[in-house]
Amino acid sequence: MTAPSSPADLVILGGGSGGYAAALRAAELGLSVVLVEKDKLGGTCLHRGCIPTKALLHSGEIADAAREGEQFGVKTTLAGIDMDGVNAYKDGVVSRLYKGLQGLIKSRGITYVEGEGRLVSPTAVAVGDQTYEGRHVLLATGSYARTLPGVEIDGTKVITSDHALRLDRVPASAIVLGGGVIGCEFASAWTSFGVDVTIVEALPHLVPLEDEASSKLLERAFRRRKVGFELGAKVTKVQTTDDGVRVELENGKALEAELLLVAVGRGPVSEGLGYEEAGVTTERGFVLVDEYCRTTVPTISAVGDLIPTLQLAHVGFAEGILVAERLAGLEVRPIDYAGVPRITYSDPEVASVGLTEAQAREKHGEVTTLTYDLAGNGRSQILKTAGAVKLVQAPDGPVVGVHIVGSRVGELIAEAQLIYNWEALPDEVATLIHPHPTQSEAVGEAHLALASKPLHAHS
Ligand SMILES: Cc1cc2nc3c(=O)[nH]c(=O)nc-3n(C[C@H](O)[C@H](O)[C@H](O)COP(=O)(O)OP(=O)(O)OC[C@H]3O[C@@H](n4cnc5c(N)ncnc54)[C@H](O)[C@@H]3O)c2cc1C
Repeated sequence: MTAPSSPADLVILGGGSGGYAAALRAAELGLSVVLVEKDKLGGTCLHRGCIPTKALLHSGEIADAAREGEQFGVKTTLAGIDMDGVNAYKDGVVSRLYKGLQGLIKSRGITYVEGEGRLVSPTAVAVGDQTYEGRHVLLATGSYARTLPGVEIDGTKVITSDHALRLDRVPASAIVLGGGVIGCEFASAWTSFGVDVTIVEALPHLVPLEDEASSKLLERAFRRRKVGFELGAKVTKVQTTDDGVRVELENGKALEAELLLVAVGRGPVSEGLGYEEAGVTTERGFVLVDEYCRTTVPTISAVGDLIPTLQLAHVGFAEGILVAERLAGLEVRPIDYAGVPRITYSDPEVASVGLTEAQAREKHGEVTTLTYDLAGNGRSQILKTAGAVKLVQAPDGPVVGVHIVGSRVGELIAEAQLIYNWEALPDEVATLIHPHPTQSEAVGEAHLALASKPLHAHS
């Protein structure tokens, strides 16, 4: 492709969630946009993250349903998992969305450049021997799967989520290093496929960023599902053996399995891309920005996993949109990151928005909490899921935290998001009528109880 002779309004480096959202919104607002991507449009989320993992988890749900049919009076047995079939289904979902996204980018008149880009000045990105000048540059090069010192990724026995999504077999056993979102999602899907899984987490709980009550409910459910886990356990040695891997822990235990998934977090992709040379300040590789995603260079912004905010696709979308709107001269407001919904799509799911009880206590003092058990929710009983809705209320004020655990509860967090972001009082939510029988009623019932008018709740 020949580089345009006049500068574009915006040159974007990286076509993942953050970069492509900025491109779409900027083009919609009439800006001329160049989008540079070295691999596949859609980035981690579409090809190696959100979408393929959720397809895998859905296959797992079907496997569990087949295994547990008798509980519902349906005679089913699980004949087995056909990984080729699972992968074909997963890849089919990804490729349909990929096609759709490519069409969107094309239809908005965005100049799409395939190739590895590098920032060569505060207003230019070079791809091969072409230079793309922009009045503004957006850095959106995302993240990669990190490992621990001494734990070498070999792609076969010691793997990251990238490799895990391409497995062509169901391993007999697996150790998952890291009990955060990604670790718990793979542990859940693999357990559904019949893999003997043990999670090793250095902190005292699974999904350690969640409210402790949610972590405990997930741990209880995982115990019931026979997902093994070692908490507060630090790894001292990882060795590959003839049959797989051996992991030694600080507490003296040693675990063996066919493979080890390293899911200890994601680091920023910023090395060697010319960021610091152009004057962009970074910290441990993350590009530092203000609340409007502006870097230390006035013509350069940055979004997504590359900056030290929540590493979520919808955060990347929101940041990309914010930058596009700011550059188009619209009035923008900083993102309240506590108001971003977070979901772990394991079985059961863990969903939350707002502050944990501990964070709320720190910010608001003596908060009130209320826990509504899903045992009282008809739809949850039908689905045979256990869990709860926990609310955290500021003193005589709005609901500042909603934490939910149970099958399919991720869908409920969209309503909780409105409650948190509109600073709703329990009384106000209690007047809203929820459809019966749905799991959403549990959110309504929790607010009824918090407003001192419980319906289906034992006091
Ligand atoms: C296993 C897994 C599951 C996940 N599940 C979820 C989920 O359920 N929900 C959720 O919200 N988030 C999820 N995430 C996180 C989500 O994928 C990321 O937050 C999101 O993709 C970040 O978007 P981004 O645009 O910042 O980066 P990326 O999506 O990583 O995109 C960056 C892009 O930049 C390109 N690039 C890098 N360097 C260059 C260069 N020099 N030149 C040209 N192009 C370059 C890359 O090829 C890539 O396409 C998951 C992540 C993983 C790994």
